[in-house]
Amino acid sequence: MAGDFGVVYPLWDFAADEGSLLEQVAGDVGIDHLTVPVVTGAQTQFRFVSGGGSPHFHTEGGWHYRPQARAYAAVLKPPKARWFAGGDLLAQMRERAAAFDVRLLLRVDVRAVRALVEKEPHLCQRNAWGQEVPSAGGCACNPDLRELLRATFDDLARYEPAGYELVDGVPDCAADRGVTRPFGWHPAIRHLLDICFCASCRQVAEREGVDPDQAARSVRVRIERHLAGQTPISGPDDTDPVVSKYVATRAKDCCLWLQRLAESDPERRRLLVRTFGEWTLGNCAPWVRMVRFPAGACGPLDGEQWAERVQALPEISALALPVWRPTFNEAAELVRLVSEAVRAGVSTFDFEGLCEAPWDAITWLKQAIRFARRG
Ligand SMILES: [Zn+2]
Repeated sequence: MAGDFGVVYPLWDFAADEGSLLEQVAGDVGIDHLTVPVVTGAQTQFRFVSGGGSPHFHTEGGWHYRPQARAYAAVLKPPKARWFAGGDLLAQMRERAAAFDVRLLLRVDVRAVRALVEKEPHLCQRNAWGQEVPSAGGCACNPDLRELLRATFDDLARYEPAGYELVDGVPDCAADRGVTRPFGWHPAIRHLLDICFCASCRQVAEREGVDPDQAARSVRVRIERHLAGQTPISGPDDTDPVVSKYVATRAKDCCLWLQRLAESDPERRRLLVRTFGEWTLGNCAPWVRMVRFPAGACGPLDGEQWAERVQALPEISALALPVWRPTFNEAAELVRLVSEAVRAGVSTFDFEGLCEAPWDAITWLKQAIRFARRG
């Protein structure tokens, strides 16, 4: 089989359309898995097709299933999302999916849950001035955040998923990249502002012989220089060896922790999801690197431009991408991209945004998957 094809299907959409999307994509399109975002930051959708008489949907985010209290007895309390009341939607979805022989991948984005960092400010990333930056989300190096993530995976194991997708499970990665931020237009300054100097990060660096104070001082000086217009703004500023080492030691620490986490439950697949164009973590096997193209962030691109982008991704074997406009203008563009990606070595696909697209998009997806499977 030429790939593992899946559709991102949030539980709030499953609740709204009563599983009709699953029936369509499982029967007609022939998907292999559903990717279910079970822990997220704030989400807003306009689902004209699937939302019935209430197309607007918003959640402040959190845990979108009912956490089992005993799984979190020794860790921080996971804030439950408020949009759902009774019933276990994830169990219902799992049962429906199993009837079609469709597996579940559970997508977890713990760092982006705003209620969590607001309640537990010690989880916050901190800038080079030592200030908390709650909007940037929790820090991936924080031991309490890590234990909460471990407890979440342990708790989710009762749904017997085929695997987990972890979103932005790395340090120096702001959870609020989608909104306008100070110096968002200046990649070098923005990159420096995103480097975390929380107590956990500083501890990791010190253990590896890197002086966090020196790194923080260097970040502040470099930002001043950029502000004075003495340096180019084109890419991330990684020219200072102390800062680079500070960044690298914490990324490595995070990778080692993720590897240990995966060892505790080796049966399930592990995917590390990063947004296209963001700084990427090195090889962290068995975690598979998945690149995600957010809807509206790029596009419309023609087939060749897409193919170039996919081929430029080093050692990426998993892609998450929107199925419809503005990313693709017509079915042929999606068909071509998916085939190119399969040829370039991508084996796992998450198709996103079906719930906000018209039913036509399902036909597009069906064509793309059929064509790719034919090889
Ligand atoms: Zn940190």
